[in-house]
Amino acid sequence: MAATVYLDHAATTPLDPRVLAAMRGWLESGCGNPSSLHASGRLARAAVDEARARVAALVGAEPDEIVFTASGTEADNLALWGTLGEAGAAGAHVVVAAIEHPAVLEPLAALAARGVEVTEVRPGPDGTLEPGDVAAALRPATRLVSVMTANNVTGVVQPVAAIARAVAGHGARLHTDAVQAAGKFPLDVRALGVDMLSLSAHKFHGPQGVGALFVRRGVALTPLVRGGGQERGLRSATENVAGLVGFGCAAVLAQAGLAAEACRLVALRDRLIDGVLAAIPCAYLIGDRWRRLPGHACFGFAGLEGEAIKLQLLLDEAGIAVSSGSACSARHAGGPSHVLTAMGFDPITARGSLRVTLGRFSVDADVERLLHVLPGVVASLRPLTSFR
Ligand code: PLP
Repeated sequence: MAATVYLDHAATTPLDPRVLAAMRGWLESGCGNPSSLHASGRLARAAVDEARARVAALVGAEPDEIVFTASGTEADNLALWGTLGEAGAAGAHVVVAAIEHPAVLEPLAALAARGVEVTEVRPGPDGTLEPGDVAAALRPATRLVSVMTANNVTGVVQPVAAIARAVAGHGARLHTDAVQAAGKFPLDVRALGVDMLSLSAHKFHGPQGVGALFVRRGVALTPLVRGGGQERGLRSATENVAGLVGFGCAAVLAQAGLAAEACRLVALRDRLIDGVLAAIPCAYLIGDRWRRLPGHACFGFAGLEGEAIKLQLLLDEAGIAVSSGSACSARHAGGPSHVLTAMGFDPITARGSLRVTLGRFSVDADVERLLHVLPGVVASLRPLTSFR
């Protein structure tokens, strides 16, 4: 079988060889603990500081506004629990997009069980939130608004800056989960007007298990992980220095090629979308056609909603890696997607979507391969559904 065509970059991205080289360089030469005062420790501290400055630069933040975490999930949890987890949060209110990743919705469910009130705002059928709907959900007790920068299922980019303007003056904090967006198009925390922003290295060709939360100066958080006081006391634990070196390197690489790479991926994505819609009559695009991440497409196939997993497995057999819905909900495979349900899809239709996502090493031939294989795979499934 031919080598795998990897079209699942929203799940994770291959490590850039330059990131691997930077991490290997550190692993082979450095062994210091950044908290140690001796020369090895100082070297490790310098490596962490450099990574912090690099990650900060990617999102227009100051280095002391970056708190390193072990994942995007942890960054989201820190933003939510750090704001609301203290005793006394009972009665507090949160406004959240109904299409958030489980890394936001699950901690909020746990907070709701402790008395925090949660209002979920739904997007329109195109997957986009209305800033006015978010503002209308505010209450005097609202302490936090959490709206993702770009959705992991549809790829739709949300109007976060407009939402920030719509909620400005209320006093509630604004958090955005930018895990899918960071490194894909220019992001600036000041232009967005957010108080907190979550990042994850493995979504832009950095290592897995390394994340960060931007916390605007003056925003106080309660730590989730307590101990030796690293990360200004907000996230104790000996730093994952090699991972952070990789995170910093990935941030520099993403930032250096951002505009050109975004244009390249938009052209590739548009070829993919046009090709699928032209070749497969029952195919439709899920989410706004233009307001989407450069390398992200999400399709439905009328009449094949129950076959999304099968579609994914058949493509896998043909050497093409894509995703049905999001990798994080793959364990609940077969159930309706909360993202599509919130967009107004009925529960049957919301069961089936095919997510095709491109990255730095994706080339024309990858898209052409999918366009060559997908029509036959879809056709092979249609007789199955017609017997229902
Ligand atoms: N938020 C979004 C929007 C995501 O897509 C993901 C991962 O898919 C996460 C958070 C979790 O990030 P991590 O995999 O670093 O825990």
